[in-house]
Amino acid sequence: MKVPLLDLQAQFACLESDLVDAVNQVLRSTRYIHGPEVVGLEQEIAAYSGAQHGIGVSSGTDALLVALMALGIGEGDEVLTTPYTFFATMGVVLRLGARPVFADIDPVSFNIDPEKMREVLAADTSKKIKAIIPVHLYGQCADMTAIMGIAAEYGLPVVEDAAQAIGAEYPEVDGDQVTWKRAGSMGVAGCFSFFPSKNLGGIGDGGMVITQDKEFANTIELLRNHGAYPKYYHSMIGGNFRLDALQAAALRVKLRHLDKWHRQRTENAALYNSMFTDSGLIGGEKIAIPTSVYKQFEDGSRGISHIYNQYILRVKDRDGLRDWLLKNDIGCEIYYPVPLHLQECLGTDAKKWSMPEAEKAANETIALPIYPELTDEMQTYVVETIKKYYL
Ligand SMILES: *Cc1c(COP(=O)(O)O)cnc(C)c1O
Repeated sequence: MKVPLLDLQAQFACLESDLVDAVNQVLRSTRYIHGPEVVGLEQEIAAYSGAQHGIGVSSGTDALLVALMALGIGEGDEVLTTPYTFFATMGVVLRLGARPVFADIDPVSFNIDPEKMREVLAADTSKKIKAIIPVHLYGQCADMTAIMGIAAEYGLPVVEDAAQAIGAEYPEVDGDQVTWKRAGSMGVAGCFSFFPSKNLGGIGDGGMVITQDKEFANTIELLRNHGAYPKYYHSMIGGNFRLDALQAAALRVKLRHLDKWHRQRTENAALYNSMFTDSGLIGGEKIAIPTSVYKQFEDGSRGISHIYNQYILRVKDRDGLRDWLLKNDIGCEIYYPVPLHLQECLGTDAKKWSMPEAEKAANETIALPIYPELTDEMQTYVVETIKKYYL
């Protein structure tokens, strides 16, 4: 049996006629830049995520970049983030001439550890840290109540890297009151990616910034179009960070299916969890340990707390298991083999951090196929193949 890590063909087969119609409509309209599809998607994603404003941009990377530009991050500034994420989270900081500062991750959720953040901020006596970027890794929100509390204490803006987590929910607790918030709607800005492998993926690159703040939204809108208002009058320096109308049209078709896909991914994860529990692989010595990567909230029925952009195991002899799975036609991937603080492009800075949890995760985690169209038979084959490796 062949089980790919992700099967976009299966998705396309269901959507082909709707996608072709949507693309044709844009082609015929000749409104290739801005226009009704982009505005429509912005309104739909903002509403979906519980935000006041959505600004379509060219990628998830550019969403982060433009959000930091709007905050005025630059030379001499530092930005606090997690060492265990996709490179873009740190790349945008470096591109603006600022430096990343890291707080290690929580070993269960793989997200930034608020207690570690607190230590880093307390040590920042020169007050160089100007913003915080938590990442909702794999589709599960970071601990936003704690993070927003710490940010408020230090008067720092929070930019959520929600590239992997559109639609993931987080229970904001205030006394007895629980309010479910969606990824991206809690910080000053939330950044989405529509890269094809994300839960809401386009037919190319795309991204969006969401925000509750009208003034911030206006700044993002200016920056994505060279800071021009009116046309040819430039009050600030932005760039071409626009979202294509073609992407917006395709994404609007796919958005209608997103909750169903989230549900299917969640069901697939639950099936893996129970199959691994029954497999005898959990616990003990040299065997796979599926990590419970989602927190059990008291009222789990009220929302999706993990959208499973990735289903992650923490395992012994990870590289050996990866080779074994690939040899058996099972797609898998390492997200991410090198934590950010050890990346070569940091130069001598790469030597000054010790992030034991991120380093451990980078050596022990593996992503298994979790896409919505995955069948029970395929999942059984994945689990049986892993059992064969360890037992
Ligand atoms: C995908 C991703 C990005 C970048 O998004 P692009 O659309 O590929 O530019 C940023 N951060 C994280 C955590 C991501 O997974």
